[in-house]
Amino acid sequence: MSIKIHVLHCGQVRVDSSLPFHEKTINPFSYTGILRSKRHQTWLPVSAYLIEHPKGLVLIDTGWHTDVRTDQKKHLGFLHYIINKADLPKGQAITEQLEQRGLKPSDIDFLVMSHLHSDHASGMKLVKEAKKILVSDIEILDTQKNKIAYVPSMWDGVKFDTFKFQQSNYGNEKLAFDLFGDDSVVFVSTPGHTMGLASTIVQNNGKFVLLCADTGYAKKSWEQMIMPGVMVDKKKVISSLEWVRQMSQQQNCIEVIANHDTDIKPHTIEL
Ligand SMILES: [Zn+2]
Repeated sequence: MSIKIHVLHCGQVRVDSSLPFHEKTINPFSYTGILRSKRHQTWLPVSAYLIEHPKGLVLIDTGWHTDVRTDQKKHLGFLHYIINKADLPKGQAITEQLEQRGLKPSDIDFLVMSHLHSDHASGMKLVKEAKKILVSDIEILDTQKNKIAYVPSMWDGVKFDTFKFQQSNYGNEKLAFDLFGDDSVVFVSTPGHTMGLASTIVQNNGKFVLLCADTGYAKKSWEQMIMPGVMVDKKKVISSLEWVRQMSQQQNCIEVIANHDTDIKPHTIEL
């Protein structure tokens, strides 16, 4: 039995160039775009991953909600509207892409969130009928400790459960959550960008793909150790990126995919 991973782009996000790739600048808030000229602005894809697994249909992250097409300021709130602008062309919302595949939100067995930043959690309400929605308990703590970084109205009324990372051989933290208990879809704790950030290993037939969420923003992040602009713990970012680099060098690694890498186009991987 094979596993299929569909890399989907659910719109794009416009941010300051120092948000994906930390820059040495005297402006400590450069990643917000405040006091920075428009020439620093850049568009990045916003990805979600649909995994067709023999044990169920798994969705990772949700991309932008369709509300961003009509009232972005209200959906994002003032602060997040300043930091990022959303673009969601017709046909790219997660529900529209499910429909193109003949699927409904209620067909999703597991929606697992890599973390809850707005460009990942925006569409949660669109797929709230998923059978089970999971967020790491550490990420939920983050949303309470670091309120300004999140837009909780995005998951208002969405029923979800939390999962706990358990001791594991994966990740520099040695903490992971094995979704099916068979090592085929494993959410690995890769903190730094947020404390609850989860990367995903999908493996089958001796090969694996690593979906590393926002641990880094592109291949050069782990190849050249370029930190993201948004970090809650720099040391942990470095250690998580080091782990991603080690994984990328393994012989049975098919691809390592960062959520917002402009070099990654929507495609399907079969394992
Ligand atoms: Zn992101």
